[in-house]
Amino acid sequence: MTAAQNKESMSRRELLRLSAFVIPGLPLLAITGAAMAQAPAAKTPPTDAKPAAPACNPVPESDPVAKAIKYVTDGNKVADRPAKMGVEGKNQTCGNCQLFTKQGDQGLGKCTMLASGCVASKGWCTAWVKKA
Ligand code: SF4
Repeated sequence: MTAAQNKESMSRRELLRLSAFVIPGLPLLAITGAAMAQAPAAKTPPTDAKPAAPACNPVPESDPVAKAIKYVTDGNKVADRPAKMGVEGKNQTCGNCQLFTKQGDQGLGKCTMLASGCVASKGWCTAWVKKA
């Protein structure tokens, strides 16, 4: 046996010795990994007690589109709301308009006419449509 063959033989021996330690541990590693993947994530307690942010930003009455449809954040500001679709003006609000979709619990919602933000559920505009 030459010196080179002897050196190669030694590295094969080392590889076999290393395998003897690593290969038996593989199933254990797989089981541990599977157990860790199924373990529930640790819950962290809430650190701040800030009030919830609005679901979206309210559209101001000064918004150009809001002005065009005469949107107001409080429908009661407009005393002469005309009756529409069998609903008296005083009973028309964004909250019961077909174009309104409630967002969160802060009296706001999306309106398809005013896509830049949210309208107040107690608001009103001239485009009001009776909910189907
Ligand atoms: Fe409110 Fe309906 Fe007018 Fe939108 S269209 S601003 S939801 S009344």
